[in-house]
Amino acid sequence: MYFCIRDDDTSFFTTPEALENAYDGIRGGPISLAVIPFCRAGTSAFVPEQFQKRWSVHPIHENAALVRHLRDGVTRGRYEIMLHGFHHDEPDGYEFEKRRDDPKLGERVTRGRKYLEDLIGAPIRVFVPPSNALSRPALDAIRRSGLHLGGAAGVRGGWNRLSPITWKTWLRLRQWRMKGGPGVPWVLDMGDHREIPGNPVTPSSRLQQNEARFDVARSVDGAFCVATHYWEFSAPSIHPGDPAVGQQLRRLVERAVQDKNVMWRSVGETISQCRPMF
Ligand SMILES: [Zn+2]
Repeated sequence: MYFCIRDDDTSFFTTPEALENAYDGIRGGPISLAVIPFCRAGTSAFVPEQFQKRWSVHPIHENAALVRHLRDGVTRGRYEIMLHGFHHDEPDGYEFEKRRDDPKLGERVTRGRKYLEDLIGAPIRVFVPPSNALSRPALDAIRRSGLHLGGAAGVRGGWNRLSPITWKTWLRLRQWRMKGGPGVPWVLDMGDHREIPGNPVTPSSRLQQNEARFDVARSVDGAFCVATHYWEFSAPSIHPGDPAVGQQLRRLVERAVQDKNVMWRSVGETISQCRPMF
């Protein structure tokens, strides 16, 4: 089984210390960072209070210390860089969300990717949509760029309705759910791109549920992708008795590193190398 960690929202507002502190002592594999190239200061919780709702645009290269840290992390194999939108926040909603049908979305994907690849000096293989919200044109743009998807689009999120693979996948997942199968313990091969559903590790996630999903992914020799945010590791769980976010992640990491049948890889490696559901 493959195990990977997807960490969203690294941007101009991220300090190297915040990443270092979050992942202090978490060793055994790479962290795949979903990075925002030109963060717009909107309403997301990671935007510092004094910037909230300013809607100003902050290119990540203006944070030189962070860029050095990311380059160094990539060179050491500590980080993988993924693309997390272009601006992330927009005054009229998340930028790749369902109701948006902007022909410029394709440009945002290609420009954002090239900018980050040139800046950090690492290839980008995976796109992670802000707030996991996708429109059909957005998924088309991602596909055309040759990127894979961090998340699962589904039929409503843009899977090609004319492709037999779409309905084969849909049916298989439906059967899985009807049998009570937890989560989606596989990489999905959609023919022209692959997708890897994330398992949220957040204040509202349940450790026990994630552990159960982890075990199922292991039993089907599939994949378990953590989806988390470095900026809320110290946040307590909303469920009484459950550990704080960072502690939940540490518990899952322990499970992964102690099991010799678990391969901890980057999201990009997992999505391209893991045997898919079909
Ligand atoms: Zn985000």
